[in-house]
Amino acid sequence: MTFVLPLGEKKRIALVAHDARKQALLDWARDHRDELARHTLYATGTTGKRLMEATGLQIHRFNSGPLGGDQQVGAKISEGEIDFLIFFWDPLEPQPHDPDVKALLRLAVLYNIPTASNPASADFLFSSPYMNQTYDRVIPDYLSRLREIYEEEAEGDD
Ligand code: PGA
Repeated sequence: MTFVLPLGEKKRIALVAHDARKQALLDWARDHRDELARHTLYATGTTGKRLMEATGLQIHRFNSGPLGGDQQVGAKISEGEIDFLIFFWDPLEPQPHDPDVKALLRLAVLYNIPTASNPASADFLFSSPYMNQTYDRVIPDYLSRLREIYEEEAEGDD
């Protein structure tokens, strides 16, 4: 079973970049400033500060990533208040908050959130016609799945 959580024409986009990837995100955001301005923007603390300085865009900022910002973004995804993620994570260095990074990426998959992890994937997502349309985001009904597992286990115990 599935249900649909639509993405509106105006997306609610979270932007996050690890330190070694911040310049890449700033460059990408400058190139896509006008498109970004059509949406509602969120960011972790330092990423958001640097993006606002570089582009003048209005961005709702959370805590810095290592201080809980990634978890705040994840919570907003699970509450249905963020529906798009641009997260340039560092493929070369471990982060002190790697568990939070993993948790955020897991929730993005769980809730079927369009996610870009580098400039090429962000370019492809932003050139999609869905950027200016509503999109039916289909979510598996995980509760039914859990119920099935529970019932199968209960039958096995008989
Ligand atoms: P920052 O956090 O934007 O505060 O640097 C990003 C992160 O490391 O997850």
